[in-house]
Amino acid sequence: MKRDKSEALFEEAVLRIPGGVNSPVRAFNAVGGQPLFLKKAKGSKITDVDGNRFIDYVLSWGPMILGHAHPKVIAAVQKAAASGTSFGAPTPLEITLAERVQHKFPSMERVRFVNSGTEATMSAIRLARGFTKRDKIIKFEGCYHGHADSLLVKAGSGAMTLGVPDSAGIPADLARDTVTLPFNNLSAVKKTLEAIGDQVACIIIEPVPGNMGTIIPKEGYLSGLRELTKSFDVLLIFDEVMSGFRVAPGGAQERYGIQPDLTCLGKIIGGGLPVGAFGGRLEIMNHIAPLGPVYQAGTLSGNPLAMAAGIETLALLETHRLYEKLEAKGASLEEGMRDAAKRAKVPVQINRVGSQMTLFFNRSEVKDYASAAKSSRKRFASFHRTLLELGVYFAPSPFEALFLSTAHSPGDIDKTIAVVYEALKNI
Ligand SMILES: *Cc1c(COP(=O)(O)O)cnc(C)c1O
Repeated sequence: MKRDKSEALFEEAVLRIPGGVNSPVRAFNAVGGQPLFLKKAKGSKITDVDGNRFIDYVLSWGPMILGHAHPKVIAAVQKAAASGTSFGAPTPLEITLAERVQHKFPSMERVRFVNSGTEATMSAIRLARGFTKRDKIIKFEGCYHGHADSLLVKAGSGAMTLGVPDSAGIPADLARDTVTLPFNNLSAVKKTLEAIGDQVACIIIEPVPGNMGTIIPKEGYLSGLRELTKSFDVLLIFDEVMSGFRVAPGGAQERYGIQPDLTCLGKIIGGGLPVGAFGGRLEIMNHIAPLGPVYQAGTLSGNPLAMAAGIETLALLETHRLYEKLEAKGASLEEGMRDAAKRAKVPVQINRVGSQMTLFFNRSEVKDYASAAKSSRKRFASFHRTLLELGVYFAPSPFEALFLSTAHSPGDIDKTIAVVYEALKNI
C-alpha cells in the first residue's frame, strides 16, 4: 500500500496543527503508524490521497448511515447553500428537522439544535442542574459524552462519590461534582443515590455505549435506572448522540422502551454536517432561555446547511425498510466475523446492537469498562494494520464501534469477512 502522499501531508500538518489532527483519535496512536489523509468518499468507500480505496466502517464516527455523499443529501445541501448559509435568524428548516426528530423521539417535547454532540450534553447538564437546583451529576465509566469540563472526569480512588479530572485544565472543584460509576451495575447506582440522591441533578448515560466499544445494556438495567431516578427525583439523560437513529430510528429509547427526561442527539441527525440537539419534557425545556433562567445559545445553531442535510437524511431513512436491512447486514457481518475468528482460532467477543458492533480481543464477556479494558491492544494493532493493507478501514482504536451504512453491499460484507479472517490469521 502506497503511503507517500499521506506521509508527506502528515509531516506538513504537524507543523501547523497539534499532532497533525483536529481530534485526537484520528492520530492512530492506539494502533501505531500515521493517519491516512482522505481525498474523497462515495457510498461505502473512502479513497486516500495516495489512491488507496477502503471499505469504510468508521463513517465519520457514525453519521454517514446512508453512505458517503448520498446524491439526495448533497443536492439538499447545495440547494440550501445557494440560498445563503447562515442568517442567525429562524428558518422553516429548523421546524421541519425538529418535527422529524420528534416523530421518532416523542419524549423530546421540545428540541433545541446546537452544533455538536458536546454542546448538546453540556447544555443538557446545565439545564438539569438549573431545573433541579442540584449540582452533582452521575455518569458511567467508559461512556463518552463529548469534552465539556463536567464530563471529562473519572472516578476518584478514595470515596466513591468524589470525581477527579480526566484531563489537564479541569478544576478539581468542578470534578468533585461528577460521580462516575461502573456501567451495567444497578446496585452501584442505588447505593450512590441512597447516600447522596438529594444532591444529584441527573444521571447521564450512553444507553448503548459505543465509546468503550459497543456494550449491550443488561436486561432490566435501563428500566432499573429509570425507576431509581424517578424515585429520587433525579433527571435521566440519554446521550443518544451515537445511538439515535442508529440502533433503531428512535434510538435506544425506542429499542428498549424507556422514556428519559432529556435526550441528546448529534451525528446522524446532521447527515454529515455539524449538528447536535437536546430536548425532553416540556416542563424542563421551559427553563431554557429565552423562556427561562438557564442560558444557552449559538451563532450557527440551526443553520440551513446542517438542517437541510439532516432533514433529507431522516426522510430517506424512513424509506425502503432500511433499518430491517441494516439489522440483517449487521447480523451477517457479526456471524461472518465470529466464524472467521473460530477458523483462525483467535478468541474474540463481538458485541452488536443493530448496525453497530465491536470485535474485542478478549476471552470473557465484555459488559463494562473494566472488562473492555482487558482486551488485547497489541492484537488489535496487528489486526488493524492488516485490515488497512487489504482495503478495510476500521476505527484506529480497539475501543470504538464499527458502523454499517445502507450503502454497504453484500459484496462489501463478504470481502470484509475474508479480510478479517486474513488479519486474524496473521496475528
Ligand atoms: C460523538 C459523541 C459525543 C460528542 O459529539 P461531538 O459532535 O463529537 O461533540 C457525545 N456523546 C456521544 C455518545 C458520542 O458518541
